[in-house]
Amino acid sequence: MEKRIPLSVPTMHGEEMTFIQEAFDKNWIAPLGFNCDNFETELCDYLGGGLHGLSLCSGTAALHLAVKLAGVKRGDTVLCSDMTFAATVNPVSYEGGRQVFIDSDRETWNMDPIALERAFEKYPEARVVVLAHLYGTPAKMDEILDICHRHHAILIEDAAEALSTTYHGRQCGTFGDYNIVSFNGNKIITTSGGGMLLTKRPEDRALAFKLATQARENAPWYQHEMIGYNYRMSNVVAGIGRGQLLHLEEHRERKTAIFRRYEAAFKDLPLTMNPYEADTQPNFWLSCILLDRGDPMALMAKLAEHNVEARPIWKPMHMQPVFAGHDFITAGGEAVNEDIFKRGLCLPSDIKMTAEEQDYVTEIVKSFF
Ligand SMILES: *Cc1c(COP(=O)(O)O)cnc(C)c1O
Repeated sequence: MEKRIPLSVPTMHGEEMTFIQEAFDKNWIAPLGFNCDNFETELCDYLGGGLHGLSLCSGTAALHLAVKLAGVKRGDTVLCSDMTFAATVNPVSYEGGRQVFIDSDRETWNMDPIALERAFEKYPEARVVVLAHLYGTPAKMDEILDICHRHHAILIEDAAEALSTTYHGRQCGTFGDYNIVSFNGNKIITTSGGGMLLTKRPEDRALAFKLATQARENAPWYQHEMIGYNYRMSNVVAGIGRGQLLHLEEHRERKTAIFRRYEAAFKDLPLTMNPYEADTQPNFWLSCILLDRGDPMALMAKLAEHNVEARPIWKPMHMQPVFAGHDFITAGGEAVNEDIFKRGLCLPSDIKMTAEEQDYVTEIVKSFF
């Protein structure tokens, strides 16, 4: 194809400009402001669960503040999703914590509750769990929450890829003690860059707000009693988010339709789609396949020859050189994540992809076998 078929890129609708224009008209260009306030309220209303939102410059910043609120200190063991983007687990290192990586189950490609239980047996002192919902598929939350409760552990939920995903009717990003979402350019809705921290308790939001605005104390001069950060979202950027939020459900529906088309086209091929449990509604942020035979890197190269962008599955954290020497806990048998990484591939999932373009992609995949 002459036109490149991308993995996933932003889709703007027009309302974003209205909110940005309002910020310009009021000359409210600084961080903080009415778009930030409204974006926080509107997203929390959408998610339900009575959360308190804090709009920030990135999902990573939100994760960092979550790790701080959870009280992670130098030398603390933190039990983390293994198959995810590095941003999920890097903030643990910012605070001097040590990640122990937890393998995934085959049913969701997310943190395996059996492996998590085993990790608590080995590290009974662990008090914090960082969990991501890979590609918008929810983890086994009932089991994970039960384990966290029994071990008195704080749960940080990374729903960066899972905004609008539901588990037993409840939105992802509402299960943890601290939750985050991302509005990076490739996510299901975007502000070009940004994120939000979602807390259960208003005092946690207040402390995060303080830390995100250079930890200023309430005094006429600049008084500091803690080390702060400059993590706030700009009022202009929040305007993009408010416009995007109006289209979140539509984006989810279009992502779902893309997944269903792949599923139908591939039903006789030696591959499976990324799995999910009953009574869950993934947002299908990225449609992925797991090959029964053949090399996914060869398929990726073949797609690239035809100007189609595919991407390997996130390389598991326990296989990353930067985390060499960190412990990795499986459910007992072979490492599920190593197998998924070896056989998996993410396919184009951009919501502007036409049916003809998707047929073009599926024909290349079929011709590969
Ligand atoms: C994108 C992403 C992040 C980081 O969000 P940014 O807004 O890019 O900082 C964190 N975790 C996961 C799983 C992600 O996909």
